[in-house]
Amino acid sequence: MTSSPTQSAAPAAAGASFSKLPLSPATLATLEQLGYQTMTPIQAASLPIALAGQDLIAQAKTGSGKTAAFALALLSRLDARRFDVQALVLCPTRELAEQVTQEIRRLARAEENIKILTLCGGSPMRPQADSLAHGAHIAVGTPGRIMDHLERGTLHLDALNTLVLDEADRMLDMGFFDDIAYVASHCPKERQTLLFSATYPDGIARLSQQFLRKPREIKLEEQHDDSKIRQRFYEVDDSERLNAVGLLLNHFRPVSTLAFCNTKARCRDLVELLRAQGFEALALHGELEQRERDQVLVQFANRSCSVLVATDVAARGLDIAQLEAVINVDVTPDPEVYVHRIGRTGRADQDGWALSLASMNEMGRVGNIEQAVSAEMEWQPLSALAPASNERLLPPMVTLQILGGRKEKMRPGDILGALTGDAGYAKDQIGKINVMEMSTYVAVQRAIGREAVRKLNDGKVKGKRVKVRMLTE
Ligand code: ADP
Ligand code: MG
Repeated sequence: MTSSPTQSAAPAAAGASFSKLPLSPATLATLEQLGYQTMTPIQAASLPIALAGQDLIAQAKTGSGKTAAFALALLSRLDARRFDVQALVLCPTRELAEQVTQEIRRLARAEENIKILTLCGGSPMRPQADSLAHGAHIAVGTPGRIMDHLERGTLHLDALNTLVLDEADRMLDMGFFDDIAYVASHCPKERQTLLFSATYPDGIARLSQQFLRKPREIKLEEQHDDSKIRQRFYEVDDSERLNAVGLLLNHFRPVSTLAFCNTKARCRDLVELLRAQGFEALALHGELEQRERDQVLVQFANRSCSVLVATDVAARGLDIAQLEAVINVDVTPDPEVYVHRIGRTGRADQDGWALSLASMNEMGRVGNIEQAVSAEMEWQPLSALAPASNERLLPPMVTLQILGGRKEKMRPGDILGALTGDAGYAKDQIGKINVMEMSTYVAVQRAIGREAVRKLNDGKVKGKRVKVRMLTE
């Protein structure tokens, strides 16, 4: 990816070392331990401004490192001896709030005991209120739940220095404007406000006018390196559109594919068809319960689901690493959304496919996209697609669900220990391990899935019996 900052004064060069910034030696050491060798473009453009205490509006695509851009700023101003909330980060969903909390924890590792609380709906108020009463330095949460705490007087923001609006575009999509306004009205006027967003819809200007003071604006244009993302269009009739997705999957055989549909109904139809065709496909849409949503994301991220079918809103902000292909099942009317969708693949040094299905009456939209990305699209007929193998496309891993999670103080090492110890597996047969509130999910190679379930059920984890089942069927 090449990016060019506009309107930002004296940014550090992208790819520059963090050591150019006014950060403590401990923080620099942490960054080095984390393998953050150089700044990402958004970090290079925004950190000098954020560390100088100025308000900021920063727009950059998902996965560009925005969290560290604000986390380093708010951590630099934190007084660990003062047990008051000094920084508040508002996020649209619980899982994004948890991702942000984790990243701040990682970055704060070297500091003395910094307490960070995640405050989101879906968990009872009382334990959160108790934790707040014990004192916390940083709160990360969703606008609704933060508002609840302010209303009940369990959260006080008088000592706040930094307010962060993360994924501001998505918070607006979700109708959080008024809640954000309520929360902002409880923050001291003297504060720094940092707004981060992946896109720049009109509402952002309204947010900024109301809650930011003379903000500096940074916008990183998305330009993808063509050699990494290969874009291809297929002309389809509407009647063959959904079926064409399976043809693409069998032809390209990507391990992980994100398939975007414009509507929820289309998502449901597509998942149903793909499953009937023998693919491991899951849908991500707004109507899932939080636990179901967690399970879907865990399975996709740990490579035990081949295709995640999602609407743009549902997929916004997710930090999904390896993605071999993005399929645009419908052509989006907004070229910016197209660029955003395809930017999910071809990350880092990997190649990625951006495959789009378009019908005759979507050609106008395709034209707009071609203009926006200043490229002529490569077209291929559906008939060019032939299965690369007669075997079913199956994900390399399966997910096991273990009853017991954070509540039971389960740790990834406990599960890994059980699988590589008594059960006798090699480390590379085990994939990602996600410890959630009530359950732990572990990915293992497909071939050992059933046996691993049996061995775990028969054996012990941390000296205790556990209940395990196969989540992926
Ligand atoms: P965004 O909020 O822009 O979507 P994130 O903050 O979630 O992006 O960062 C995406 C990933 O990049 C995370 O896994 C994070 O740990 C990693 N990352 C962030 N900054 C750096 C850096 N300077 N060097 C290497 N990895 C980084
Ligand atoms: Mg983010």
